[in-house]
Order: sequence, then structure tokens, then C-alpha cells
Amino acid sequence: MDDTTSARADWLSRRADTYCIHGPGEVNGADLVRIARTLAAEPWRFTQTAPAAPDDPAGVVVDKGRRRVRVEVATAVQGCVFMIRAMGGAGRCGLGDVAPLCCRMFPADPRSTMPEPDATGEPSRAGLTAEELAELRRVWAGDRARWHETVRRWNQRNGRSDDDPLTAEDFQRYLLEAEFARQAGTAWPEEVGG
Ligand code: SF4
Repeated sequence: MDDTTSARADWLSRRADTYCIHGPGEVNGADLVRIARTLAAEPWRFTQTAPAAPDDPAGVVVDKGRRRVRVEVATAVQGCVFMIRAMGGAGRCGLGDVAPLCCRMFPADPRSTMPEPDATGEPSRAGLTAEELAELRRVWAGDRARWHETVRRWNQRNGRSDDDPLTAEDFQRYLLEAEFARQAGTAWPEEVGG
């Protein structure tokens, strides 16, 4: 095993021990939609909900406003549902380059605007140069803003509907539409047709 391969294996192991046994960190709606499209599976097949704080901008209002939840990648007994066990028991991500951006940046903090202390322009153990990490952070920040706006719009227009007890699955249908509209450069779903 050469130095690059060894460093990569070490990074994958550290990420598995830190993230994968608990689930990923700051996942955005764009991550969920990208995974869903790649796997040809609806996002609610691989997500779960957890209680959200009242002021959480990622807190989705469901069930006629009775609950506020975060939508997260599901975790099973062994950890993230996308973690697979390699021979020898080491954890590995089954998503490869489709993994959430926060996972691909590990151990860098996606929120940070500061360069990593050892960012020299050379590839890190994650295989990212300083420029590539900066670009991932820029994309992550854009995805984050869109995610929070998607949740805000849902909560304002749909989450408190008195007609139906809308669920997290309903929200994720809206998320799919909102992300498709974003990629197509068209209006938000509720703005189509006036
Ligand atoms: S998506 Fe992949 S890298 Fe991220 S926590 Fe799950 S298994 Fe680990």
C-alpha cells in the first residue's frame, strides 16, 4: 500500500469512527435529493426525523403544527444506513462521491470560512486541495441557505394546514419539487401558476 492509499484508508477509518457510527453531520436538502436521484429511491426511504428546537431553521412543522422535526439521514443499529462493513470490520461509506458534502469535507467544519491550519494547497487525506475544500464549503453554504428557505416556505404555507395532518414525507415531496425547480432555474413550486 503506497502512502497515498494508506493516508486515504486512514482518513476513511477516522471518518467512519467519527461520523458513520453516529450518522452524518450537517446534511442539507440538496444532499438528500442528490442521493435520492442517484439511488432512484424516494428520500423518505433513507431518512428519519428527530425533534427540533423551536428556533431551529431546519425544523419542519408537520402534523397540523403539532410537531417540529429535523429530517436526517437514518441511522440503524450499526450507524448510518449508508455505512457498509468491509472485510475485517472497517466501516466504509457506500455512497462514494454522492455522500453528503459535510461527509466529503470531514474533518473540516463546513461552516468555517477559515482555511484549515494545514491547508497548503496539497491534497489532504480526504483527497481535497485547499481550493477544492473552499469550493465545497461555498456549495454547502448555498445549499444551506436554500435548505432553510425551503423549510421556511413549507412551514409558512403548508406545515400548519388545518385540512390535512401533513407529514415529513409530504415535506420531502415538496423538497424534491423545490430542488428540481432550483436546478431548472424556475420558480418555487408554490409560485408556479400564480
Ligand atoms: S453518508 Fe457515508 S460518510 Fe456520511 S455518515 Fe453515512 S456512511 Fe458515513
